[in-house]
Amino acid sequence: MIVDGVKPYVEFIFDLRRYTGKADSGEKVESLWRQINAGLVGKSINSGSVINLDMPDGNVGLWIVETNGLSQVAADTEFRAMDVLRSPKLVYQCAECGEYGPLRCVKCEEEKRETRLCSKHAHIIKDELSAYCKDHIPTCNCRTGCHEQAIFRCQSCARIFQKREERYRSLYGKHVHKTHPNDPNVDYCQRCYQRQFERCNSTGCNRPGRSKCQYQSRNGEACGAPSCSDHSYQWKIWGPHNRGVNLCEKHQGMMGRSDPADLVFLILTAKAPFAKRGRRYSMPNPFRLRRLINRHRSSPLSFTQIEYALKSLEPLVAELSRNAVKNYEFLMKLFAETMGNLDSLERDSLEKIRSYYQNHVGWDAAAQILGLQIQDRFSRPGEKTRYRVRVQFSGEKGRLIGRGGVYMKQIRDLYNLEVDLD
Ligand SMILES: [Zn+2]
Ligand SMILES: [Zn+2]
Ligand SMILES: [Zn+2]
Ligand SMILES: [Zn+2]
Ligand SMILES: [Zn+2]
Ligand SMILES: [Zn+2]
Repeated sequence: MIVDGVKPYVEFIFDLRRYTGKADSGEKVESLWRQINAGLVGKSINSGSVINLDMPDGNVGLWIVETNGLSQVAADTEFRAMDVLRSPKLVYQCAECGEYGPLRCVKCEEEKRETRLCSKHAHIIKDELSAYCKDHIPTCNCRTGCHEQAIFRCQSCARIFQKREERYRSLYGKHVHKTHPNDPNVDYCQRCYQRQFERCNSTGCNRPGRSKCQYQSRNGEACGAPSCSDHSYQWKIWGPHNRGVNLCEKHQGMMGRSDPADLVFLILTAKAPFAKRGRRYSMPNPFRLRRLINRHRSSPLSFTQIEYALKSLEPLVAELSRNAVKNYEFLMKLFAETMGNLDSLERDSLEKIRSYYQNHVGWDAAAQILGLQIQDRFSRPGEKTRYRVRVQFSGEKGRLIGRGGVYMKQIRDLYNLEVDLD
């Protein structure tokens, strides 16, 4: 068909079904056409005929639909493609390997991009049809932030995260994979599994064991025993009002007999709760550390013994987390400081207390004081450091306490010393 004033052009169908090169976008087809175009000059053309061209990446066919009166291709002959035929195998190419890619990345789709994937290069969550490309592989949602690839969806978490934009939160990696005790096709994350199926380890107790014992010895053996709320115990490393380290009944019972190095190790590696935004509670000071280790212990350990335990951990600590190394260095520094002036601090405190009784109560009361040890140190920003001292005495206790504890109170107010008479 020739329209007056319009230059005639050749109408054709571009047959790329046997072409194996990339031709999955308009741009790529155009560039392929530019390669072909020049080689057509001089060829004769008839409506209904087919020109077959062998290109490096396979055969390309041009079906001449309508020549519009032209019989030979000249340098300025215009071609118009009516259609492009492509093999579906080549249109749907895997973004990774170029093979047939029937799957689509769901995340790319959400971002309005189409990423095709073959079954080998699609990351698929167990029992689900959703595929993910390598840029969108979902990661494990366990609490350690492990960044492991997610391979399954927890049935129980899935019930919590049903919204489309939250569904990824019920996906987990292999390391927390558990299956239903009676149905291997139902997957749970470790936390949900524990919550639903694990029972308290305490003899005779069959309540759900929701709290996991965090005891671990220096050789990395973790207990992990589940306990119910009645049979789990919190070792309050970071003070009485903060969450502590969970221990099972057995390990709580062993505390008084445990190797102090094991206990120090537990303190170094335990994850402290958050104090303020982004800041965690710091290590207990040496006094509190000593108290923590000596609780339930029939013969209490001295600072020197605890420092020895701390030092024995040095070769081990280097292999631990950065946090544990930081904690170790911090504790060692505190120990050196504390032990460096402990003697003079105790001597000074003893002198103060004796002179208090000498001046306010009487020389006989002062003579009742035999000695003291500093038990604990309290320091709060903006306040003077306070010490709790255990005082050894002879004779009558009441004489040292005073009516309604008046002497105790005065000593505290005057010297920041909290006296503990035992
Ligand atoms: Zn592939
Ligand atoms: Zn993707
Ligand atoms: Zn994980
Ligand atoms: Zn779960
Ligand atoms: Zn129990
Ligand atoms: Zn335990």
